[in-house]
Amino acid sequence: MEQNTQIDLGVTGLVDSSVEKSLRFSGLSIYIFRIKERRNMRKFVALLALIFTTNLFAAAPTVEYERDNILMLLSYSMVLKDWQSEYTGKDRGYNIGAVLYDEAANKIVGVQRNTTRACDDKTQHAEVRLMQDCLNGECRGDGKTRYLDKTTIYTTLEPCMMCSGMMAFLKVDRTLYGQADPGFGKNIERLKLPYKGEEANSRARNLKSIPAPFAERKQLDKLFAEYIERTGSDNVTAFLTTDEAKYVYYSAAFKLLTMDVVNKENESLYDQAMTMLFFTDDRDVNACFIGNLRH
Ligand SMILES: [Zn+2]
Repeated sequence: MEQNTQIDLGVTGLVDSSVEKSLRFSGLSIYIFRIKERRNMRKFVALLALIFTTNLFAAAPTVEYERDNILMLLSYSMVLKDWQSEYTGKDRGYNIGAVLYDEAANKIVGVQRNTTRACDDKTQHAEVRLMQDCLNGECRGDGKTRYLDKTTIYTTLEPCMMCSGMMAFLKVDRTLYGQADPGFGKNIERLKLPYKGEEANSRARNLKSIPAPFAERKQLDKLFAEYIERTGSDNVTAFLTTDEAKYVYYSAAFKLLTMDVVNKENESLYDQAMTMLFFTDDRDVNACFIGNLRH
């Protein structure tokens, strides 16, 4: 028989009072969700146990490693906040999100989600939207932005050829991805390949594509491989509507909310991430820059 159980992951009290207040105020369902079957609940409890055990024995992270972790977790959390359980045609778009980080200013420049359906525009991938939103604006605080050098894009799914090309063209330094895409991935690696003995363009050669070295990517890669085996479908966006994928996103959000920042250098970044997560207006994140706004 189907069971509907409300689970409070008990975040309040574990974070500082201003964040706690914002958590209560926002009334988000990030840490409260419905478990439909006992089987899934057991899986989720096992996942949490794994996270805690892994953290217990982990060595102190370097500043960069911890920063990458915070921003990867933020990208998953932003998607979870507006999770699409199914794609109806009137939904926002796929469960994919990205974060743009300015290394020189130690600043989160923006957060975006895929809005291909709401905007009726197949180019509206989260990464493209991040870059478009920043260009010609003053997002980096230095007048009009022409290039995105000294930035990192954190994205929940490995970038496609369109986003990879745009990143290389705009001189983005590096991108970390939170799940490999066997069907559409490895585009930055392809851009770097020489052609008939001639080296690839320097902008492509300078762009680093990095599989995120965190548990969530490994879990999502494994679950997607099992999904392909089970269903015979390699449709990654369909996989990203499943409960099993959602659990990994939940565990990421839970990790971010309960994170104990070890490096002082990352404290302000963590505060920025919390502000982005709880005080960014979803209507702005989901707005269409071009194309048709349906809602
Ligand atoms: Zn893309």
